[in-house]
Amino acid sequence: MNKIRLEKTLEQFNQIGAASGKGITRLAYTPEHAEANRYFIELCKQEGMNVRIDACGNVIARRQGAEPELPAVACGSHLDTVQQGGRYDGTVGVVAALEVVRSLNDRQVVTRHPLEIISFACEESARFGVSTIGSKAMTGKWVKAEAEGWKDKNGISFREALETCSLSMEKVESARRQPEELKAFFELHIEQGPLLENKQKDIGIAIAISAPTRLEVTVQGKASHSGTTPMMLRKDALLGAAEIIAGVERAALSEADRGTVATVGVCEVSPGAMNVVPESVQLLIDIRGTVIESKRAVVQQLSALFGSIRDRRGLEIASRVISEEMPVLLAEETAASLADHCRRLELSYLYMNSGAGHDAMNMADFCPTGLIFIPSTNGLSHHPEEYTSIEHIAKGTQLLEEALIEWAVPCGSEQQCPQRWERIS
Ligand SMILES: [Zn+2]
Repeated sequence: MNKIRLEKTLEQFNQIGAASGKGITRLAYTPEHAEANRYFIELCKQEGMNVRIDACGNVIARRQGAEPELPAVACGSHLDTVQQGGRYDGTVGVVAALEVVRSLNDRQVVTRHPLEIISFACEESARFGVSTIGSKAMTGKWVKAEAEGWKDKNGISFREALETCSLSMEKVESARRQPEELKAFFELHIEQGPLLENKQKDIGIAIAISAPTRLEVTVQGKASHSGTTPMMLRKDALLGAAEIIAGVERAALSEADRGTVATVGVCEVSPGAMNVVPESVQLLIDIRGTVIESKRAVVQQLSALFGSIRDRRGLEIASRVISEEMPVLLAEETAASLADHCRRLELSYLYMNSGAGHDAMNMADFCPTGLIFIPSTNGLSHHPEEYTSIEHIAKGTQLLEEALIEWAVPCGSEQQCPQRWERIS
């Protein structure tokens, strides 16, 4: 593993879509994202890899194994970013995977299983409000009827965005692969949270990926004059909403030992005038955790609270579950293998849950999947100041390399392994 080459390559990717002071913007299926993918393809070809782009725009680069019919060991992440995003989210995972292949080529390591690097399409929800689209398509979770309704903020449909990349909505389903094609999948990603930095650990090994349950709550009161309506005669929707917001915190705290968190990120007050008692409030509540029963316990506490607020304040409260996604457990065998390699490499590590979604969560019900986190300074992400040191990236890459070699099984010197790759110099 060559740290200087790794850093330089990361730097080159980060010139694509960069605007001074405004971070990196490579929204999915835009010319910037396509340029990053083109550059990735060029670098993979230089390493003698075969590259294809599937029907959803995932780029799949393959380093042939000595036994090409064996399932591949895959790794990768994504090159798309949010609007004004950072330099590490996603990109680190792709660049690290590329460095592993370069290092194997340097060391003339031939593996029995083929290796694949995947640069997933549209991981971020920043463009269409839906995340991990590429890995959903690859694992058969993409639903055409849903995708018909996707539009970005400029009114460009998902179908039109695909067409700008010479892809077709009619063919996306053919990006689906069969689980037998892959032996395992590994993703290296920045943590996007403060845990590793706080605990001063090099590596986080994810054991579960939390999933959101989302609620929409509407509190209906009665608008009236803020000067002439006595306090006892009001039906102030915002006061009811304020109780709910505080209740969301209480409910999540009561489930803290199971790692559940909850946030009210949207609060819209109507009519929103200084001299009118609020008539209605809409709240959007995001509840996340790795234990489905714990998320449901939070929802139950909230339902009880809605009843009590209704009775005390005479407000109408309507709530609707917008989505309830299932948390994903990662394979014990991949986590244990990563921990073994950490010990051997003398990297400090901890097991943790992932609070954010990743392509790894779709790959996890496909094949044994390992998700490696490296520290994010101040836990900051999706922001131009997102930062992870090259030392931490190098440690993560080293771990990824060891895990990939183990899973792809190196040919022993006693075996006559044909060399099926050739670097283009
Ligand atoms: Zn990411």
